[in-house]
Parts: sequence; C-alpha cells; structure tokens
Amino acid sequence: MKKGHFLKPRTRHPAPEDAQTRKQIEPVVCYPIDTFEGFDQTFFDTARQDMKLVDEVMIAPRDASAFTVKAGQFFRITCPDGPQVGDLNLWNADNLDERFFSGKTRALHGTHLGTGDRMWSNLPYLRPMATITDDTLDWYGYDAFGGGVHDVIGTRCDPYTNTLLNHNEYHYCCHSNLIRALAAHTGMSLIEAEPLVHDVLNVFMCTGFTRDTHQYFMKASPVRQGDYLEFFAETNLLGALSACPGGDCSASHSSEDARCHSLKVDVYQPTTTHLQGWQPAEASSYSRTHGA
Ligand SMILES: [Zn+2]
Repeated sequence: MKKGHFLKPRTRHPAPEDAQTRKQIEPVVCYPIDTFEGFDQTFFDTARQDMKLVDEVMIAPRDASAFTVKAGQFFRITCPDGPQVGDLNLWNADNLDERFFSGKTRALHGTHLGTGDRMWSNLPYLRPMATITDDTLDWYGYDAFGGGVHDVIGTRCDPYTNTLLNHNEYHYCCHSNLIRALAAHTGMSLIEAEPLVHDVLNVFMCTGFTRDTHQYFMKASPVRQGDYLEFFAETNLLGALSACPGGDCSASHSSEDARCHSLKVDVYQPTTTHLQGWQPAEASSYSRTHGA
C-alpha cells in the first residue's frame, strides 16, 4: 500500500453551485473581548517605577526551572546570553489543578500574545493568572510570512512526537524539562508530575501558519540579548520555564543540533501603595449547574 501524507486542500467532492457565495461570507470574531475590563497601562507603569528585584532564577540550556511569584508581583523572562526560545507553564501555586489554558487564551487574544493580553486559567476557574505588562519585542508585530512572537498555537516539543516522527529517543524536549522541574520543585514523581504539564506560552518563539497548507511553522527568533517579556501575577503562581533544545528555533528542535542559551526569570516586588484598589483575580462566577 502506498503511503500518503495528505494536507489540505484535497478535493474528492464537487463544489456546489453556490460555493463562491458561501466562501465570500464575511467572518465574525468569535470572542469580541471589549466586554471585559480593559488593560490599564498607567496603573502598571506606576506600579513598576520603583519595584525591587526579589528573586532571580536561571534556566540552563536544554533544561527547565520552577519559580514562584506572589499575586501582585511582576516577573520578567529575560534573554541574558543569546537568542533562545522558552516554553512557559503556569499553575495556581495554591491549587495545581488550576493551570494556564492555552486554547481559550488563543480564542480570546489571538495566536500570539503581547502587552495587555492575559494568560487565562482552565475551566472551571477561567480567570487571568497573569497580565503581560511589557514586551521589548512588540516592534515585531506580524511579518510577511504571517509570523509573530510569543505564540499560543504550538504545544511544546515532546519526546512522544519526536519518537513518532524521528524514531529515536530524546530526553531534553521542553515537555520532559518541564516535568523534571515540576517534580524537583514539588517532590512529586515524574509520573505524578507529567499530567500537570500543559500547553505553553512559547516565549520569544517566532511562528505562524504557512499560507498554502496552514502548517505550523517556526523561524529564527528576533530576540536579542537583553530582551524581556514582563508579566504581572494576578494570582499566586508556580511557574516553570524550559530553555527549548531548539535554541532560537531557526532550524530544528528535539535534538542536540541547535545552539542553545540560558534564560532567566526575575521576580519584582512593587511598592504596595501603588497597588491600592487592585485585588487578586477571582475564579469564574458561573454556577456550575450546567442546566441540570
Ligand atoms: Zn521546546
């Protein structure tokens, strides 16, 4: 039997007479977000002005580290050495069942995140875990290929997909790195930690979908030494960040081939008087009766 790898568009059925009319219907945005509270840049700029560095966590190349951030603190993911992509997981530090929900965050904010966007938690919580308050790569926008930085469309490189496609075992994919970091931080076994690792925010990674086949693509990250992505913690957070074995993700991942660098997480405490009026985010008020 001939092996085939089919990609859209593939056609086995004739188009109806009104095919063009149907295709020309204008799209509507699924989740217009103008109904929830907007981003207050002035509030965050004021809170940030005299904040103090309280913790620094280094992430070695092809490895991950965990870190904690209290609600009301800022944290920055920085690129201290050379171009490097990071895979970020976030949990509610007080309840690890609550974690970042990449899919709904994508549906609400789009394929790539930037200043003013929030990282939402899974159901039934659905609250902002963190708000992005500054991004030194905000100049990039979208390039001619449709690529942008900080995506929520990929998942994380993992040894299962690598085994499927490349028929070899590689142990330092972001999925494995995040499991080891979570297990080391919590005292869980690797088996206990694995189901808690989830789809990531791909920090500094430059990605999109190809125009013709809509396949997920990556290209060299535009991140430079000193760039950072800054967040404000809306709940108590446990984070884990993996320095992807893909390095700047210009060519490959899930192997030892790419040149890799460190990443760093800096945690900052703002002056509490600047936070007056701010409250940690609350979980969804939905009744959870589901029509029964
Ligand atoms: Zn990775």
